[in-house]
Amino acid sequence: GVSDEAGPSRQSIPHTNGMNSGSISAKAKVIQEQRRRLPIAQGRDALIDEIRSHDVTVLLGETGSGKTTQVPQYILESGIARNGMIAVTQPRRVAATSLAQRVALEQSVPVGSLVGYAVRFDEKHSSKTRIKYLTDGMIVRELMSDPLLSNYSVVIVDEAHERTLRTDLLIANLKSIQKQRNPSPNDKGKGKADSSNPLKIVIMSATLDAEKFSKFYHNAKIIYVKGRQYPVKIYHSAESQLDYADAAMRTFFQIHTDQPPGDVLIFLPGQEDIEGLQKSIQLFANQLPVDTPAVLTCTMFAAQDNSQNSKAFNQTPPNTRKCILATNIAETSITIPGIKYVIDSGKCKEKQYLARSAGGGFDTLLTRDITKSSAMQRTGRAGREGMGVCFRLYTEEAYSNMAVSGDPEILRCSLTSSILNLKFASALKTLWLLGAIDNNQQLTPAGRKMALFPLEPQYACTVVASKAFACTSEILDIVSILSASSKLFLDITEQREAVAEARRKFRHPSGDHCTILNAVKAYREITASSNKHGRREWCRKHFLNERTFLEARDIREQLVVTCGRVGIDATVSAKENEDAIVKSMGHGLAGNSAFLQADGTYKQTMGQTIIKVHPGSTLCDKKHPAIIYDELVYTNQIYARGVSAIPKGFFLSLSAFKQRKA
Ligand code: ADP
Ligand code: MG
Repeated sequence: GVSDEAGPSRQSIPHTNGMNSGSISAKAKVIQEQRRRLPIAQGRDALIDEIRSHDVTVLLGETGSGKTTQVPQYILESGIARNGMIAVTQPRRVAATSLAQRVALEQSVPVGSLVGYAVRFDEKHSSKTRIKYLTDGMIVRELMSDPLLSNYSVVIVDEAHERTLRTDLLIANLKSIQKQRNPSPNDKGKGKADSSNPLKIVIMSATLDAEKFSKFYHNAKIIYVKGRQYPVKIYHSAESQLDYADAAMRTFFQIHTDQPPGDVLIFLPGQEDIEGLQKSIQLFANQLPVDTPAVLTCTMFAAQDNSQNSKAFNQTPPNTRKCILATNIAETSITIPGIKYVIDSGKCKEKQYLARSAGGGFDTLLTRDITKSSAMQRTGRAGREGMGVCFRLYTEEAYSNMAVSGDPEILRCSLTSSILNLKFASALKTLWLLGAIDNNQQLTPAGRKMALFPLEPQYACTVVASKAFACTSEILDIVSILSASSKLFLDITEQREAVAEARRKFRHPSGDHCTILNAVKAYREITASSNKHGRREWCRKHFLNERTFLEARDIREQLVVTCGRVGIDATVSAKENEDAIVKSMGHGLAGNSAFLQADGTYKQTMGQTIIKVHPGSTLCDKKHPAIIYDELVYTNQIYARGVSAIPKGFFLSLSAFKQRKA
């Protein structure tokens, strides 16, 4: 018989409403069998005992052992989290949504009921929710309205080894929350801690450097879960590859034609590489002789929607080789079954803070070499279900020169010092400039409103400012496009002329923000008058990314709800008053402004950096005395992107600006 300890005892799970009463379907049986076979299942009881008897537990386990999907369910089934929800944090939104889906399936409930998720611009949970997967960014946001996280009994900090800025901030915050919520022997009788609702913390990590976390929490116990790892044969390139995409493609087809069946996982730095290589592989696969097995490509990256990402989990059809192209999301967050071969480009994208000028630098995404620790994780993906092979598109020497592990994001990115020691840095200055905090670093009433918007502070400020300028509807149109994960205007180098021609239609003399607005309005008209196919064709013809429109529509809906909460009427429209729109944008982007100089370049108003207007901008060859911009891109020059002209005198109307200049 099946041991009851390892298996989930369905009767003990509350809130399932007897969905499985009587007959458990064949598929559900298979899933329960898979759960029982996971390496972590053997340690279930010991793990529960540890968590029950300690405030903090550090859990270290190889990728695929079952940490992320099983531990929350074990805690739920054990009754440890009787007074609140179980939060499971993830650095990436794709991981949060797809894991919630998987765990809901394992519990035989729809997503959003017992098992839910919350990521920026997308939430599915209800009063029934007991296990909530959420991004580290979302839980840090919840801290603002609920500083003790009182809705949660257990917070599981997952993927802690990635050391993202927000995960690190969360870990720091949880320590002080626990001090306030959990009774300690010395506190007895002082009535300081609220012992009725203590908080448990579980830190989960996939790599070996868990001691740091344990030390931080007064030497919390570290529990190890062994994974299943079969040997993986590693091949390095004989010489270094200049074009890793091309090398990946050749390697894939070598595997496909010479090697036994088994799916292939290719690690690439980002979305563009993935989409480019997917096209090439499909094109080439169609030309293979008919007796060669078919090739099925799937992609996985952060900006892609969940239904696309989850295709990688589908069973590979017969006589087919699945080829999954992924970013480092597949390194530890998500385990795809069936992988026998890994191709590792040796590259990843990493956020980097370029502190170039006194007025503050900026974050940028750079493609760079991975670390040894990443290389090992990637290799490991090939040996989950049997012996595997890993092809590294870099030399053995390059491997030996790799850094052992990366710097935590907190050492690389702009918010660091400011948020942690709240003394000095551009983040505070930005918040102050936006009117979100006052001279004493206290949140202002406007700041309180801004904090509720799931937006970058600049754009939250813009939305709040739009009330006074009576143009909220238009500002929501623009800000939701700017907050989508991919750009609206596609740049296709080979068709530069055609692109420019198509764009001219939307061009607005004030700059890129109203140009975006024109495109949104045009798309809205097309949506009203034509079907899905017509819309797609129209977007293609105008080199517009329809996915951005669709994502922006969802974002806009959420922003309308938040506007309602803070008393901003989202339907108020500027009509043809562009001046109001640009000025609202200017309130948020005052820190991103520059004045024209005699030589035709611009100089930051808040710093010393000399910038040029990006060639893709509507204003690239028009000079204006003052501009605002969405971002700076750093190539051989520093370019401002998303630019609008603004009256030079506008800045004088901003009180923070006046104070600063004074
Ligand atoms: P860990 O967190 O230890 O890396 P997980 O709990 O994420 O492990 O995954 C455990 C197992 O569950 C994986 O081996 C994988 O095969 C399976 N799994 C996870 N998500 C899915 C999914 N969406 N579809 C199918 N199987 C999944
Ligand atoms: Mg995991």
